[in-house]
Amino acid sequence: MKENVLLASYTTLRVGGPARYFFTVKTLDDVTFAAAFAKKKNIPIFILGGGSNVLVSDKGFSGVVIKNEIKGVTYEDQGDTVRVSAGAGVVWDDLVADSASRNLWGFENLSGIPGTVGASPIQNIGAYGAEIKDYIVEVRVYDTTANKEKVFSNSECVFGYRDSMFKKSPPGRYIILSCTYTLKKSGTANVKYADLAARFSSTNEVRPIDIRNTVLSIRSGKIPSPNTMPNAGSFFKNPVISEADAERLTETYPDIRIFPQGGGVKVSAAWLIDHVGKWKGIIKEGVFVCDTQPLVITHTSATAHAILMFADEIINDIKAKTGITLEREVGIIGNFL
Ligand code: NAP
Repeated sequence: MKENVLLASYTTLRVGGPARYFFTVKTLDDVTFAAAFAKKKNIPIFILGGGSNVLVSDKGFSGVVIKNEIKGVTYEDQGDTVRVSAGAGVVWDDLVADSASRNLWGFENLSGIPGTVGASPIQNIGAYGAEIKDYIVEVRVYDTTANKEKVFSNSECVFGYRDSMFKKSPPGRYIILSCTYTLKKSGTANVKYADLAARFSSTNEVRPIDIRNTVLSIRSGKIPSPNTMPNAGSFFKNPVISEADAERLTETYPDIRIFPQGGGVKVSAAWLIDHVGKWKGIIKEGVFVCDTQPLVITHTSATAHAILMFADEIINDIKAKTGITLEREVGIIGNFL
């Protein structure tokens, strides 16, 4: 355990003040110890994985930060499928690379997503028409309220679009220890998104590694690497609205990018920010949207406060112009008042 550890270097947005207490956990015992410490001091817990989906306050976090580094991956042959279990601290894309190199189907469209295995069920990560909920068997957690391990089946995770029961639970309640997934030994490439379809004229003879390499190449052309440009991926979720609202918006904005989603209609938040808000090129206190993907907010040495203000301005602007409230995908940690 360390005290007063600056969180900026642990997040891909590269902002954030100190964590009062900072634990690095590698085993269940470490997790139990850190959780008991927070309980004894009666202070909140924040679980940090890759730090790729959070905006930490300049004032830091006056509780216990638990940096999850539980590693280990196992593959269990089950006939047509393989059961894969991975520690929550395993780097997500390392797992995708490994499974694709084994010719296993399922994770390939989710290549290049930053963060750890532990984050995958929380927001039901998705990309290019694939969602992790379709591969998760169960999620093993430490319940900091009941002080014991628990296993949640897929249905108990209540997955939704970029959503799950974990996201709605009180912060720090469940510390994810590991996830178990099922992958297929044979499958068909999912190239329904235009960017992928444009690169594969046929799905014959296509291997998971081919999809992975193509996704990585598309992403690198659009999403800046946090190593060169601080960012937390998509800052907002794509809003899902009613069909009636979508019809109304289409009259005003005939080119709007919309897709059926569940019983409603998913609107491209990037399109709204770009075409309705016209936010490309606007810089405020060093904060701006990325040119190749306006859903990504980046900055040149800005404060966390300036980033939050900028994001709020976008939310207010899109709300005023369309009636749609953009919801943040990035988690807000610490006190911003
Ligand atoms: P894009 O292909 O330019 O499409 C813009 C948006 O329209 C996407 O967000 C996507 O929604 C939706 N979309 C496009 N084609 C679709 C289809 N055939 N059916 C349903 N929805 C469709 O998006 P992009 O920015 O290059 O991103 C590509 C993929 O990577 C997307 O799935 C995106 O979510 C994912 N991604 C995620 C993050 C993150 O931080 N979470 C960051 C970058 C990219 P969906 O988002 O629902 O797929």
